[in-house]
Amino acid sequence: MKLFDVYPLHDITPVKGSGSKLWDDKGQEYLDLYGGHAVISIGHSHPHYIKRIEKQLQEIGFYSNAVKIPQQEELATLLGAVSGYQDYQLFLSNSGAEANENALKMASFFNGRKKLIVMEGAFHGRTSLAVAATDNPSLSAPINTVDFIQFIPLNDRKALKAAMNETVCAVLIEGIQGVAGVNVPDAEFLQCARALCDKHGAVLIVDEVQSGHGRSGRFFAHQHAEIQADIITLAKGMGNGFPVAGTLFSPKFEAKYGLLGTTFGGNYLACAASLAVLEVIQAEGLIDHAAEMGEYLRSQLALIPGVVEVRGAGLMLGIKLPFMVASVRKALLMEHFIFTGSASDVHTIRLLPALNVKKSDLDRFLSALKSTLQISQAQ
Ligand code: PLP
Repeated sequence: MKLFDVYPLHDITPVKGSGSKLWDDKGQEYLDLYGGHAVISIGHSHPHYIKRIEKQLQEIGFYSNAVKIPQQEELATLLGAVSGYQDYQLFLSNSGAEANENALKMASFFNGRKKLIVMEGAFHGRTSLAVAATDNPSLSAPINTVDFIQFIPLNDRKALKAAMNETVCAVLIEGIQGVAGVNVPDAEFLQCARALCDKHGAVLIVDEVQSGHGRSGRFFAHQHAEIQADIITLAKGMGNGFPVAGTLFSPKFEAKYGLLGTTFGGNYLACAASLAVLEVIQAEGLIDHAAEMGEYLRSQLALIPGVVEVRGAGLMLGIKLPFMVASVRKALLMEHFIFTGSASDVHTIRLLPALNVKKSDLDRFLSALKSTLQISQAQ
């Protein structure tokens, strides 16, 4: 059997990781500022993470959600404490798309409506409703097409006001748009969305799949705007590579047996991985560190000729160049051995490093970027 060939691959085979470093099968070391797409939150192969998963595996690896799994309660309690959402309820699943499907389904169960308002440039996943709410028609098959989703420009309060009425089920927005190229919703827009959802009985869902778990310098990116969402979704950084996702529901959502369900969601190993991530975030002060490193990067990037704009917060940054970034990213990877991310905005390099990335690693990137840009500008 062959693999279903859907990924354009780098010709690199990582075989080992530690912190923000990777090594390939030829022994070449790489600096990972992409974090496997915002997934590596506490660094590759963190010792506490390995120990916690290993210990769990020695005891029990899996049983179904038909039995008591105390690790789920432990995770809900710790996630509530670290995120500041103590009174919310956690439903565990396996991927960001699934977390969003559950969020949208519960919003619709809650108010009985189905119109959705979503942002232009949004990416919410590849399952049926999540992909319909994603602003990229090439990802949607005819079977995914629905007529109840309205896209509006991000940060356009007038468009949001015009779209809102008593038929709106939910407003769905990324804490920070990732795939689009790191676009930050401004505080006034999020506050306006909060107020309009309250006024019209709609549900405010914030997708923190990429921007959550401390990446923005707050636990959730929307917390910079001092608002609370009704439903929050999380995944990527939650398990540092172990597949796990969560949907957080405010107390107004009432659980009923059978309303949601999953085979693998909330299994022992996923809980152990997620607990290890939160424990390390707390013990090592990684949210403050992410904020500090983000500020440092921004201040240094501002000094580099050729950098047009830096968008984002904490360690979720988009670096805009005056030309398409593909050749710069290729030079960073093949000549300086540094992984960075792309975006649908072809002028933007995306940085999503581990939250405990070292300042010396960022300096290595800054000098590599400087010399790569000098060469590109000379050509
Ligand atoms: N939501 C956002 C904001 C994302 O960036 C992604 C993935 O990139 C998803 C949802 C989908 O997550 P998954 O690939 O785990 O289904």
